[in-house]
Amino acid sequence: MTSPTIDAPEWARRRSFAIISHPDAGKTTLTETMLLAAGAIRMAGQVRARGENRRTRSDWMKIEQERGISVSASVMTFEHRGLLFNLLDTPGHEDFSEDTYRTLTAADSAIMVLDAAKGVEPRTLKLVEVCRLRDIPIVTLINKMDREALDPVDLLQDIQDKLALDAVPMQWPVGSGQRFKGVVDLVSDELVLYQRPGVEHDREAASERLSLEGPEIRELLSDAEIEEARDGAEVARELCPTFNPQSFLEGHMTPVFFGSALRGFGVRELLDGLADKIPGPAPMPVQINGQSTQVEPGDKEVSGFVFKVQANMDANHRDRVAFVRLCSGKFRRGMKLKTEGGKQLTVSSPILFFAQDREIADEAFAGDVMGVPNHGTLRVGDSLSESGKLRFSGIPNFAPEILRRARLADPLKAKHLKKALESLAEEGVTQLFRPVLGGDFIVGAVGALQIDVMRERVAAEYGLEVTFEAAPYETARWLGGTEEQIDLFADRHKSAMAVDIDGNPVFLAKSNWEVSYSQEKFPELIFHHVRERA
Ligand code: GDP
Repeated sequence: MTSPTIDAPEWARRRSFAIISHPDAGKTTLTETMLLAAGAIRMAGQVRARGENRRTRSDWMKIEQERGISVSASVMTFEHRGLLFNLLDTPGHEDFSEDTYRTLTAADSAIMVLDAAKGVEPRTLKLVEVCRLRDIPIVTLINKMDREALDPVDLLQDIQDKLALDAVPMQWPVGSGQRFKGVVDLVSDELVLYQRPGVEHDREAASERLSLEGPEIRELLSDAEIEEARDGAEVARELCPTFNPQSFLEGHMTPVFFGSALRGFGVRELLDGLADKIPGPAPMPVQINGQSTQVEPGDKEVSGFVFKVQANMDANHRDRVAFVRLCSGKFRRGMKLKTEGGKQLTVSSPILFFAQDREIADEAFAGDVMGVPNHGTLRVGDSLSESGKLRFSGIPNFAPEILRRARLADPLKAKHLKKALESLAEEGVTQLFRPVLGGDFIVGAVGALQIDVMRERVAAEYGLEVTFEAAPYETARWLGGTEEQIDLFADRHKSAMAVDIDGNPVFLAKSNWEVSYSQEKFPELIFHHVRERA
């Protein structure tokens, strides 16, 4: 694939991607090193520092300050080889939430970062599952090669076995840890030399490449090491499938790079790989007047959808910022856009998120993300367009893994509680389920942090003292099937039935085992663990 020239339409040079990884695999470090290598930031340490500045500068939620983490997902923009990359940042903390998942619905591809000593870890597995909802292409970086690593063949096999992805190495590592010499570029057959960093290593330096056959390599590597490099490259070529762009774009095959984000090694090669391989904005499925069709990124009408709402950016104003992924058209500041529900808003001060700072955007295109300040008009899953006729689907809710019963200190405030929980559920902070029997409010979340955020906001914004106590359920499933089938099931499981905020029937299960058991008993019913917002 060649990079589009300056004359190509602006949207065609957008590359919007997210990084997925298990905590500690090196996502933050990679983000930083990538921005550094692309010249978007000048000093290492700024990605973390950015979070700290932001916390002191503005009045972010107390919980962010107390726990020292960033609950929000933002976007960083950088240029490389004439392309404009939008890196959609997902929360970096161990706790995670539906925001992480939903951010992936706004990305056109993902980089999967694996720890070379660990391979595929549980969180990676889950995030890849989410990528599968839209079959977005995944590029793999095997990180921390400067430490003792698993055998590369085993790492590729692990990807194949656990993720059912064909792993195709673009490079082959020579050693790891103390013995790490670099990687053989399997296209050019050169060794990209790993220079052991001195005290002041330079993460921006271009990497040195040496021909495997030339004389220079003999000065730096022993005969045994050169042989290892050659043999490794040969094995890789023999054992692994060849890279098939179509299969990659359809999400079945992943090109694999090796590196050390901390040492800045392999990051430039990864960036070049991204520029060569990852796709621009994809056409998005949409409904117009009930008809399913697609929005093309080059379509004239401006359209997009809200994948995240960040509230309380400033506690004094009840402002919210809706993160909108643009899907078509050329957006200009001051434009009027409508939701599919008929709400109109003038987008007078949209925010584009640059690595250095936030900037007011004058123009934006398909693939871009903009922050739209509003007073609660916009909800997660809302579609925006000039005509107000477009409805994007596919902003999912995920089966909660934590269910809690909300209990009020003052039972007379039940009405207020209902309003508070409903409004937070509409915003996508947590999910809300009302059991068919009894007057309980059950809130659901994918990560524990979501519950903390909810408690904090119910207190700060609604003045309600609420405890979230253990509920006798472990997970929930949305029921699919004919009305009769659902009624029959509901009749037999009255005490476990609830409705979600949109009135859909939900089965609150005591365990995952109970879900499987019920599925066996009611083979025709579908127990959805993801629900797309209607
Ligand atoms: P995240 O949780 O995925 O964002 O991971 P971080 O980027 O915060 O990295 C977790 C830890 O691994 C930190 O102590 C990093 O310094 C370290 N780390 C990240 N990349 C590398 C690497 O390439 N080599 C080594 N040796 N350590 C790394």
